[in-house]
Amino acid sequence: MTKSKPILSASTNPKDYCIATMGSHSALQILKGARDEGVRNLVICKKGTERPYKSYGVADEMLLVDDWSEWNESLEEELIRRNAILIPHGSFVAYLGPERVMKTQAMYYGTKEILKWESDRSLERQWLEKAGIQMPRLFKKPEDIDRPVIVKFHGAQGGFGYFIAKTSEQFYEVKNRKYPDQNEYALQEYIVGVPLYVHYFYSSITKELEIMSFDKRYESNADSIGRIRAEDQLAANIFTSYTIVGNIPVVVRESMLPKFFEMGENVVAESRHLKVGNGLFGPFCLECIVTRKLQIFVFEISARIVAGTNPFVEGSPYTALRYSEPMSTGRRIARDIKQAIEQGRLDEILG
Ligand code: ATP
Repeated sequence: MTKSKPILSASTNPKDYCIATMGSHSALQILKGARDEGVRNLVICKKGTERPYKSYGVADEMLLVDDWSEWNESLEEELIRRNAILIPHGSFVAYLGPERVMKTQAMYYGTKEILKWESDRSLERQWLEKAGIQMPRLFKKPEDIDRPVIVKFHGAQGGFGYFIAKTSEQFYEVKNRKYPDQNEYALQEYIVGVPLYVHYFYSSITKELEIMSFDKRYESNADSIGRIRAEDQLAANIFTSYTIVGNIPVVVRESMLPKFFEMGENVVAESRHLKVGNGLFGPFCLECIVTRKLQIFVFEISARIVAGTNPFVEGSPYTALRYSEPMSTGRRIARDIKQAIEQGRLDEILG
C-alpha cells in the first residue's frame, strides 16, 4: 500500500489542491462545480469514455486508464502527488467496489465507512428506522406475504429481475421458474405511489442542511409499459425492469417541504450514532415513494451525490432561492471543500 501522505494538506490555499473524480455518473457537474469555485480539477477516465469531458471542456486535467483494475498504487500515488481530493459517486463505488474504496489512500470527500451502512439492506434499515423514517414493511419469509411485495434480489443492478407478488404461491411460481438459483432476496411491501428522490446537502462546515433539488427517474421499461394497452402488455409477456436511462426534475408541493427537511435532519443526526467518522455529511439522497395520502416511504438511501442532481448544473428552483449564483450539487461540494481548506478544517470533511 502506498505510504505517501497528501503533501500540502496543511495549506489553506484552495489553489494548492485539486478536485478529482471518476469520469462517469455526475462527473460533469462535479468538474464544472470545482472550476466555478476556482479549484483545479482532474478526471480519471477509462480509455474510450473521455469524449464528454473533452467535448464539454470541463476538465483541467485527464488521466486515462485501460481498465478500472488499474486503480492501483501508482494511480493513487499520482493523485496524492497532485494533492487531489476524490469525490465519490455511484459509478466510483460500483466500479471499484466498497473494499477498494475503503482502501483508497488519496484524500476522500465524505465518510467512507458510511458505505457499509448504505449498501447493507439491514444496516440501512436500522439507521433509517432509528431516525424515525417510514420504510416499506419487510417480510421475513414468502409465507408471510399478505399484500403486494416487490421481490428484490441481492446485487440486482438497475432493479433487474425485481418482480411483484401478492401471495407466497405467486412468489414461488415466478421465483422457481425464472430465478431458480437466486436465493438471496428481500421481500418488501410494494408501495403504490410516485417515486421521488430528495437531494440533500449537509455541510459539516456550516452545520446546515439544505434541500438542493428533487428528481424522478426515467426507467426502462417501467416508464414505457403504460404506452401500450393492458391486453397488449399481457400478450407480449413483458416483465418490468427499472434500468435507469435518465432523470427528470421535480418540484414538490410546498407543504411537503417541512417534512422533507425534518427527515433529512433526523437521518444526519442519527448517523452520528453509527460511530463512523464524522457521520453523514455532503450530498445524500432519500429515495421515496409518496402515496395518494401523501405518506412518504423511503426505500433506500444513497450517502453520496446521486445522478438525479445532474439536471441542475445551473442550479434548481430551490438553490435559486438560496444562492445568487447557479449552485449545482457539484459546485456545493467544491464550496464545502474550499471553505474547509480556507478555515484549516480539511480533516473534518475527509473520510
Ligand atoms: P439503485 O441504483 O438506486 O440502487 P436499484 O437497482 O437497487 O437502484 P431500486 O432503486 O431499489 O433499484 O428500485 C428500482 C425501482 O423500483 C425504483 O425506481 C422504485 O420506483 C421501485 N421500488 C423500489 N422499492 C419499491 C417499493 N417498496 N415500493 C414500490 N416501488 C419500489
